[in-house]
Amino acid sequence: MNSKHFPLTKTQLEAVADRYPTPFYLYDEAAIRRNAQAILKAFAVFPAFKEHFAVKALPNPVILKILAAEGFGADCASYPELLLAAMAGMRGEDMMFTSNETPAREYQKALELGAIINLDDLTHIDFLEKVARIPELISCRYNPGPLKGGNAIIGTPEEAKYGFTREQIIDAFALLRDKGARRFALHTMVASNELNPEYHIETARILFELAVEIQVKTGIRLEFVNLGGGVGIPYKPDQQPIVYDYLAQGIKKVYDELILPAGLDPLGIHTEWGRVITGPYGWLVTKAIHTKHIYRDYIGLDACMADLMRPGLYGAYHHITIPGKEDAPLTETYDVVGSLCENNDKFAVQRPLPKIQVGETSGDFVIIHDAGAHGRAMGFNYNGKLRCGELLLRPDGSLTMIRRPETVEDYFATLDLKALEGLF
Ligand SMILES: *Cc1c(COP(=O)(O)O)cnc(C)c1O
Repeated sequence: MNSKHFPLTKTQLEAVADRYPTPFYLYDEAAIRRNAQAILKAFAVFPAFKEHFAVKALPNPVILKILAAEGFGADCASYPELLLAAMAGMRGEDMMFTSNETPAREYQKALELGAIINLDDLTHIDFLEKVARIPELISCRYNPGPLKGGNAIIGTPEEAKYGFTREQIIDAFALLRDKGARRFALHTMVASNELNPEYHIETARILFELAVEIQVKTGIRLEFVNLGGGVGIPYKPDQQPIVYDYLAQGIKKVYDELILPAGLDPLGIHTEWGRVITGPYGWLVTKAIHTKHIYRDYIGLDACMADLMRPGLYGAYHHITIPGKEDAPLTETYDVVGSLCENNDKFAVQRPLPKIQVGETSGDFVIIHDAGAHGRAMGFNYNGKLRCGELLLRPDGSLTMIRRPETVEDYFATLDLKALEGLF
């Protein structure tokens, strides 16, 4: 058995692939909406809750528009990400601008759009004032340093480049008030792909304790805390997803313990989750085109690491299934690879799978699961690889292309071909 959900049958997929040749990304709109609704329902235990979807996870304005319709905002980290959120109809404080080493132009754009600026460092207060202005509402990013143990992707907070220290952040709020800010928020982001709910509850505790300390030391009452991103998803079939109700109830318990007696209620709870919002509802759909048998057995796909780099970049596990062979015995052990001239271009290493048939027309489809976040977005053009497109499966079962595949013309678009003729 090799189970994980994919929304199309093999026959449906064959019809789709006739119109849209593989490889492509497929996203399930109904599943994304249901997930958003479940999150809002669980977090309704708080007086105010807002999820700002981390645009970097799936930077497509159609997806952002779907999430906006469900009541989510966006978390942006660059000028183009701000434009994408605005394009999807997000406005003002729907947008959180959590950037670091930020250029002046990006702060200016964020202020122009009315996004909530989340400062990454003490020196950025003067910088922001000089290149733009201090807005009424401002957030600061806290780095808890040795207070918080690390996790595999982000590492340990003391070694992370982000945020203010505890001493700095208290001074920062007082300074921002002196410079005209009137509404304040506190942010941290200390995890990535963390499946243990206690870790996220502990993060909330750290922020709540600091919110109380800020109030005691400066008299400033925060409007909201932002728990950042980092909620994990079960990439492996034997892992369990985080239960939203458990997480929300766990954070609420700490809220009642710390925020209520300090008189800080109502305090808004914000998140900027990316992976858990779209990750499980996106698939990279590919075809097996070659097989080779040398010291190991290989399956060669029509997609490569330029379409999905997580396995190559950090050895990330992505589950693989073969439509029509969901119940077939896992008799083979393959390295499932792409065509890049890099030996880490492997979607799976020594993976037990059913026997796979290859061929550009008659080959098996190979589904790479949980690719809906940090998938297409991390793609690149090394080796002249053209990134694949994105399809949206609508709630009525129809398909819409929301990004076409790249062409050779796209790849050449930034070259100045006149220089090629004129120079020599
Ligand atoms: C990457 C990132 C996120 C989203 O992280 P996920 O792991 O996708 O939830 C949120 N906030 C910031 C500042 C980030 O860098």
